[in-house]
Amino acid sequence: MSRIAARARAADLLAAGGIETAALDARILVEEALGLTATDLALRGTGPVGVEGAERLTASLARRLAGEPVARIIGAWEFWGLPFGLSPDTLVPRPDTETLVEAALGLGLDPGGSHRLADLGTGSGCILVALLTEWPSAHGLGLDRSHGALVTARANAARNGVADRAAFVAGDWAAALAGPFDLVVANPPYIASAVIAGLSGEVRDHDPRLALDGGPDGLDAYRTILAQVPRLLAPGGHLLVEIGYDQEASLRSLAAAHGLSARVVCDLAGHPRVVVMA
Ligand code: GLN
Repeated sequence: MSRIAARARAADLLAAGGIETAALDARILVEEALGLTATDLALRGTGPVGVEGAERLTASLARRLAGEPVARIIGAWEFWGLPFGLSPDTLVPRPDTETLVEAALGLGLDPGGSHRLADLGTGSGCILVALLTEWPSAHGLGLDRSHGALVTARANAARNGVADRAAFVAGDWAAALAGPFDLVVANPPYIASAVIAGLSGEVRDHDPRLALDGGPDGLDAYRTILAQVPRLLAPGGHLLVEIGYDQEASLRSLAAAHGLSARVVCDLAGHPRVVVMA
């Protein structure tokens, strides 16, 4: 069978299995199984699939049909146009989180400045690595409770050429940090514990619970961060956090209770997604 025919058959199979993004998923899984880039597939689509490629494709289609997200199957995902490896200890980077990177870049800091950054609950390291690629003289510290996530984040910093400016340390929110930082960023777990059972299976069964569960009202991590981070900020420094679509009012009152100003930035869908505090 040709590669193009295999892709068409994979798309049909996924569509018949109720996968809404069947065509896109089929393309990514075929590229991965056959070790081809998108350009290879377009230019050499009439070439043969090969026995090993076919076996790999069959296995990954079975996983997709069983509800595993494409990012988990290929163990990688793109964020801010950069490649990131994943592990079971890291959240799959979401496009919504690019709003946080944009908000940070929009603060008006000198792009060539030697900013000191901290990323709390760094996971795959995607936010910190994206910012370090944008600010070539900045340095950053990524903190995570999960040792597995730290291994992945270190590898992602190396893969994207910023390892010499990034350090990753184990710790619980800000407890292990000594400032000052010009910028502290976090995409902490913010889903209320009771809501997790009702999330889509792709999130509930495949993203780490540690990265999702924000406690009884979803705000536990923000409370801890706000109790610790303001003392770590340099004069004129900022704290940027991602929030759930319905958490703007809660975050505004938490910020006010800690004497911080708060500005909210919406994601592409128009939902409040990032709170900028100073
Ligand atoms: N945005 C993620 C989701 O919707 C949640 C990530 C988080 O809790 N930080 O699944």
